[in-house]
Amino acid sequence: MEQKVSPRYVQTSLAASLTLGFQSGSFHRNAKLKGLNLLLHYEEGCSGKCQFCGLSRSRKESPKGKTFIRVDWPLYSLETIVERSKSKDQIHRVCISMITHPRALEDTLYVIQKFKEETSLFISVLITPTLIRDERSLEAMRGAGADRVGIAIDAATPELFDQLRGAGVGGPHRWSHYWDVVRMAAHVFGRYFVGIHLIVGLGETEEAMVRTIQRGQDMGAHTHLFSFFPERGSPMEKNPLPPLDQYRRIQLARWIINEGLGSADHMKFDENGKLTDFGISVDPLIESGEAFMTSGCPGRDGKVACNRPYGNERPSGPIRNFPFGLEPEDIEEIKRQFG
Ligand code: SF4
Repeated sequence: MEQKVSPRYVQTSLAASLTLGFQSGSFHRNAKLKGLNLLLHYEEGCSGKCQFCGLSRSRKESPKGKTFIRVDWPLYSLETIVERSKSKDQIHRVCISMITHPRALEDTLYVIQKFKEETSLFISVLITPTLIRDERSLEAMRGAGADRVGIAIDAATPELFDQLRGAGVGGPHRWSHYWDVVRMAAHVFGRYFVGIHLIVGLGETEEAMVRTIQRGQDMGAHTHLFSFFPERGSPMEKNPLPPLDQYRRIQLARWIINEGLGSADHMKFDENGKLTDFGISVDPLIESGEAFMTSGCPGRDGKVACNRPYGNERPSGPIRNFPFGLEPEDIEEIKRQFG
């Protein structure tokens, strides 16, 4: 029997599965998915040991390498996904997430080529730096048709990175190599054609997070923020979500830095590393609401395509990353959340 593994099969996010009509349902407040998120899939799973990741759960639950399909990342044939995405005008971009597996690089190139040949979608890759040794792999991705890459640094400090996904947990990833790959990617794809992912709430101070966002900015990478969510079955399933006021301050600081409106050096922090002064007047920024929308790779219209509806919280709310423009009531709620 044919094994359902990449590159012939890939997992889709639940949002992508609904949008492509594999499952029925709609999103709370009618959010529209514009970026198709795909994930490579192998029987052995990912060899990373990141403590906050739901995929480490799959390793825990299928030690013998049996196929395990997370309910929220269903598996479909690449052929069918490509076919269905052709008739979906609302989709602007596809993002292929590598996992840490020896075949991931080669299979990613195959999937990029397939979308490039058969669709007009923009193509991003969420790369695994641990599998990237030099610029040649990145050049191959660009040559195959990808125009952007994302790098999930996730933890904002070298200590947390090591403790949650590096040597501290016997994991393969290394902080300094991740940043070397950010530098290489900015060279191959161009400044700001690279995005880094950072997760708020892994134990970092606000100051550490803001300084890491600034580091990315200085190297030519915008930050895409995530709020820590305790994935069931993951080693961090019992950890709390970061407080909303903390998340809102970091969203605002990220917006200021990535939009070039200010910098970490002009912001002030108290003795616990809490952000106390953004260095510019933030009232108009809060009123516009844009800082609180999901940030990610853009689509045909130049606006964020990777809006990951409810990828970060339960639809029952409160919404942390807004996948759509905010209503006046949302702004009022956010002002209250700032405290
Ligand atoms: S922002 Fe979205 S589309 Fe871009 S690399 Fe990250 S997950 Fe992929």
